[in-house]
Parts: sequence; structure tokens; C-alpha cells
Amino acid sequence: MALRNKLHSLPKADVHNHLHLSGAVELLREQYPGVQFETPRYYDGFDGMMHFIVQHVNTLMRSSDDVIRLMDIGIRSSINDNVRHLEASVDMGLVAYFDNSLETFINAVGQLKKKYASEIDFRPEIGIKKSAEMEEVYRDGMACIESEVFDGIDIYGKETDQDLSGFKEIFQEARARSKKTKVHIGEFSDAQSMLRAIETLEPDEIQHGINAADSEKAIQMILDRNIRLNICPHSNVALGAARSLLEHPVRKLYEEGVNITINTDDLLLFNATITDQFADLIQQRMFTFEEIDEIRQNAIQGL
Ligand SMILES: [Zn+2]
Repeated sequence: MALRNKLHSLPKADVHNHLHLSGAVELLREQYPGVQFETPRYYDGFDGMMHFIVQHVNTLMRSSDDVIRLMDIGIRSSINDNVRHLEASVDMGLVAYFDNSLETFINAVGQLKKKYASEIDFRPEIGIKKSAEMEEVYRDGMACIESEVFDGIDIYGKETDQDLSGFKEIFQEARARSKKTKVHIGEFSDAQSMLRAIETLEPDEIQHGINAADSEKAIQMILDRNIRLNICPHSNVALGAARSLLEHPVRKLYEEGVNITINTDDLLLFNATITDQFADLIQQRMFTFEEIDEIRQNAIQGL
């Protein structure tokens, strides 16, 4: 308990977080007393997780107020874990709950930023599914990037056999406006797909990227371009991308000199805070306290 308390008290960053899915279930129950579900320890892969979201989370979202409430709970859950710097994606599809008014959607996110400004450095990223219509990406996605509210872009969804070239231009536009660029890749897809994504999009950071550990070439490219990997070990184990924490490639990537961070992904779905994950990695003897502390500080400093 002493270790957990010490880790909890330290200021932390979470830079891989999907905001409306990042609330702690206890806080969610305070607002939605009808919530009965327990967070599963393992899902039947990515599709199993999507099924859980549709069944248990989407049913809570009846209006824009619910969406704002879920995002608010996500931010408060981070604050409760002493996360001082939060880079979280806000899914572009959520605009549907705001009568498809992009202005209202952007304002709502801006209000949350203001509301918690004294407690946490919250930097929202516009989150776009790789399967989104390109017309929407370049209309709504661009408007978000051009707004003062969003600080970055993150794309996600199915990883295998995806042609990401359609996103090349919006990544360039984001970079031109000094917004951070991230892509989810290399969780379920192989190192080859990572090499292609890096060449096509030139992202600042990669969400997951754990399968780079299988390829010297991918590791070298990540090192050469100084790309940070924002890793979420518990999420990877729950979804079967890693067999267990002990077999997770996070240690190998660290030893290769890759700049890594440890993050929650979706606290509501995986039920492991940054403190929990730091503590587990130390207790399983995968990292020493000093190493975890260095990773923690890098995540806060590498802004
Ligand atoms: Zn993610």
C-alpha cells in the first residue's frame, strides 16, 4: 500500500486517453445510479470491447448533457489520480449528440477546459475513426484543428489493412498549426504497418505501437525520428494484444531506448489508473521504482 500511496501522490501525465470512456466506474455510478455492470478483466478482442461499449456506455448517452457529463467524469477521474497533464481524444462522431452543430460541440469541450484549468492541464485532441468519411474529416476535423480548443489530432479504429494516405493532408495541416499528431497503430497490426503509417503520416507520437518490438527496422525508425510510444499495458492485456503483463513488450522497447509513456487508454473499460499500472509494473518486477519515476517525469516534461 505504501508504494501505491507514494505513486498516487506524485504528479502524473496521461497522454493516451479517450475522454468519454475514461471515467472511473465509481464516479459514473454517482451520476448514473442504474449502472450495474462490472468492468470485465478480459474482452473478446477489439470487437468484444466495441460490443461492451454499445451495450453499456452508449445506452447512457441520450443527449449532449450525457456526453458532457461522461467527459467531465473522465477529467475528474484523472484529477483524482493526481494526473496534472491530460492529452485526451474527443471523438468527432460525438458531434451527432450536439444536433450536428460543430460550434456547440467545440464550445462544450472548450468549457470543460476552462472549468478545470486550475486543476489540470487538459489538452483535447480531435479523435477521428480511420473509417470516417473523408468529406467529414476535412470539414469537421479541419474545423476542430483550426479552433483554439483542440491541441492535437489522434486517429484510431481497426488497424489491419488500413490505407491511411487520406489523412496525410490533415496531419500536415495540424502540424502547420503546431498541433500534436498521433496515430493508433501496432497494437493489433504488425511492425510493417507501423513503418507505413510513419512514412505516410509522419506522426509526432504513436498510440500503442507495441508490435514495433518485433522489428529492428521499426525500432530504428522510431528512434531516428524520436517518436514517443504512448503505451497502455492493461488495455493491451485485456484485449489480448499481449498475453500477460509479464509478457508485454514494454520492457524490451524501454531497453531499446524508445521514449515510452504509460497510460490508461479507457479507464472505464480497463479499470486501471496510471497509479495502478505503475504499481503493477513495479510489483511484477518489470521496472524498478526509479525507472518508473523516470518514465513518469518524461511524460510530464515531454510536452
Ligand atoms: Zn487508444
